[in-house]
Amino acid sequence: MSPSVPPRAEIEVDLAAVRHNVRLLAQIAAGTGAAFMAVVKADAYGHGMVEVARAAREAGAPWLGVATPEEALALREAGDTGRLLCWLSAPGDDLAPVVARGVDVSAYTVEALDALAVTGGARVHLKVDTGLSRGGAVRDDWPAFFARAASLQAEGQLQVVGLWSHLVASDEPDSAVNDAQEQVFRDAAAMATAAGLTGLVKHLANSAAILSRPSVHFDLVRGGIATYGLAPAPGVIADPGLVPAMTVRGRLAMSKQIRAGDGVSYGHQWVAAHDTTVGLVPAGYGDGIPRSASNRAEVQVAGARRPMRGKVCMDQFVVDLDGEAVPAGTEVVLFGTGAHGEPTAQDWAEAAGTINYEIVTRIGGRFVRRHVDSDAGAGARTEEQP
Ligand SMILES: *Cc1c(COP(=O)(O)O)cnc(C)c1O
Repeated sequence: MSPSVPPRAEIEVDLAAVRHNVRLLAQIAAGTGAAFMAVVKADAYGHGMVEVARAAREAGAPWLGVATPEEALALREAGDTGRLLCWLSAPGDDLAPVVARGVDVSAYTVEALDALAVTGGARVHLKVDTGLSRGGAVRDDWPAFFARAASLQAEGQLQVVGLWSHLVASDEPDSAVNDAQEQVFRDAAAMATAAGLTGLVKHLANSAAILSRPSVHFDLVRGGIATYGLAPAPGVIADPGLVPAMTVRGRLAMSKQIRAGDGVSYGHQWVAAHDTTVGLVPAGYGDGIPRSASNRAEVQVAGARRPMRGKVCMDQFVVDLDGEAVPAGTEVVLFGTGAHGEPTAQDWAEAAGTINYEIVTRIGGRFVRRHVDSDAGAGARTEEQP
C-alpha cells in the first residue's frame, strides 16, 4: 500500500474521544462518590484493548475491567499496573498468573474460593446473582458462600475486596426489575457485612445505570459501551455528551452504470427500477459487516447518504449512487460520529436488528485499525490488524 493512498478499508479509533468519555463518566460517578471502571473486554468492544486501556488510564480511570484472564494478562504484558478486575473464568482455569500480577478476580462458588485459597494472595470480588441468572451465587447459597469467604480471609488465604452483581434491564430504567435487583443487592451487602466481610468495594452499575440510576452507583461503576461514546439506550436514556470513538471507512472498489431491471448481488434481492449507478464497497460479513443489514443500511459517499442494495457478501457489498458518476476510489464512510452526516453504529444496529455493541465489537476481519488522537494533531499513529 502506497502511503499516499488511504487503505481499502479502515477502522479509525480516536483516543481523544475515549479520554473525553472516560472523564465525563468518571465525573458522573464522582457525583455519587463512586469510582469509575473502564470495561475493555473483547478488544475494547473492537476498539483495541491496549490503546483504549492506556487512554482510559490517562483520563484518570482508576479501574479497568475485562472478562477473561488472558485479557488481564495482555494488559499487564502491555505495562498496565493499575487496579484491574477480570470476572470470567471456568473451573480448571489457572488464575495463579493473574493473581501473581495483581489482578483482582471474581468468584461465585465455594469451590472457586477454595481454588483461589490454594493459589494464595488473591484479591477476590464476590459475585452474587441478583436476578440475571447468569454468573453469581444465588440467594440460597449466600450464607455458605459468604461464610467460606470470611473464613478463608481470616486464615489469610485470600483477601475479599469486593461484592458485585450485574443488571438485567438497565437500558429500561423504568423496569421494576431494576428496583428488585437493587434491593436484592442491598440484602447481599447486609448479609456479607454480617458475615464479617467489611470494607468491600460494591459495584452493580453498567453504562446505562451510570447514566440513569445513581442509587446503584455504590462504590464503583463499570462503564463499557459509553466509554466508546455509544449510547447504551438510545432514545430512552439522555446522552450526556458522549463522543463515538470509532469511524469505519473505505474506498469504492468500482463504480458503474446498471440498467433498469438489473438485479444486484446474490439472489437479486434488489432490482433496479430505473437506470442508475452503483458503487462496490470492499468489505463484507467476513469483516463484521452484518449480513442482516442487507438492503437496509446506508453509507456516506462523497458527502451523501447512499442506500445499500441487495445482500452483503463475504467481502463486499453494493450501494446505489443514484445515477451520479462517482469515481472508483471515492471515500465511503460506513459509520462514524454522525457529526458530518454519516451514519452511526446505532444506525447500523437498527438496520441489522441488533444493538450498537454488536456492530462495533464484531467489526474487524481485514479492516486495518488505526488509532488517532484528535487532541494531539497528526502525530502519533499506530497501525495494526484488529
Ligand atoms: C460488559 C460488562 C459491563 C459493561 O457493560 P456496558 O453496558 O457496556 O456498560 C459491565 N459489567 C459486566 C459484568 C459486563 O460483562
